[in-house]
Amino acid sequence: AKSRGGNCYQFYTEEMNQKVNSRLTLENELRRAVKNQEFELYYQPQVSTFDNRLLGAEALIRWIHPSAGIVSPADFIPIAEETGLIREIGDWALLEACKKFSEWNNTFALDMTISVNVSVRQLDDAFVLRTQEILNISQLDAKYLELEITESLLLDNVQENLRILDNINKLGVRFAMDDFGTGYSSLSYLKQFPISKLKIDRAFINEINNDPEDEAIVRAIIALAKTLRLELVAEGVENHQQLALLQALACDSYQGYYFSKPVPADVFRQRYLEQKPP
Ligand code: C2E
Ligand code: CA
Ligand code: CA
Ligand code: CA
Repeated sequence: AKSRGGNCYQFYTEEMNQKVNSRLTLENELRRAVKNQEFELYYQPQVSTFDNRLLGAEALIRWIHPSAGIVSPADFIPIAEETGLIREIGDWALLEACKKFSEWNNTFALDMTISVNVSVRQLDDAFVLRTQEILNISQLDAKYLELEITESLLLDNVQENLRILDNINKLGVRFAMDDFGTGYSSLSYLKQFPISKLKIDRAFINEINNDPEDEAIVRAIIALAKTLRLELVAEGVENHQQLALLQALACDSYQGYYFSKPVPADVFRQRYLEQKPP
């Protein structure tokens, strides 16, 4: 019983307990974060590939943890989705983004859109009503709002998700397909679903200058978007070579660290709205 094996077993059990514990801790902390409103939205510009004109802003959530500092959404959105907390967090993010954009729009009369990420777990009939309510509260014209969704909405309840998206679309809100190119091979859903924009996943942009296959895929997505009259955004543009190639391929707009990282609301306002060139 005092063998090494026993100690090993003990060791692994404790490690596993710790995992379960930290998972539970995270879940509880997330509940507290919802209650105490520990979240903040950062905004990343979407700009024209040709003249860097501001076309939109994507709202990206951050958790300002009281002791751990800024926590990335990649580390808590999956848990929020599993626990259902994503509904409350998502409602908060949508309301906050609409209120902020409405405030900016009242001051600057903007010709751009505000994009908010929506998890498939948020999609139900209550969310349709909530979206309408949020547009009312924030006094935002629906035409400014774009919701970013992923192909995971094709995994389950496709007909129901389609109906919900159509109902939101009837409010005047548009949809962008996020991370495009990484998911399904069947593209027929592009015809069925009310999608007006494709966001080319940054996995294809990353090595676009060195990998002919990535370039070929991006060319194909651009051709597809033009044929179906969809708008396009290339994600994750980090350097001038990538931008130059996207210009050559006639991809209209991009988002990425090369132009700007996501920044807090006041920085976005100061840097991209107040400093507009004459
Ligand atoms: P996403 O929607 O694909 O967002 C783009 C991610 O790429 C963001 O990460 C952004 O900061 C990052 N990014 C932008 N430009 C570059 C670049 O040039 N290089 C690199 N390496 N990365 C770049 P972030 O903010 O950490 O968000 C991660 C993911 O978390 C998002 O991916 C989205 O799926 C999710 N997320 C963020 N906010 C929300 C939200 O409010 N609701 C939901 N449901 N999901 C959210
Ligand atoms: Ca997104
Ligand atoms: Ca994306
Ligand atoms: Ca992504």
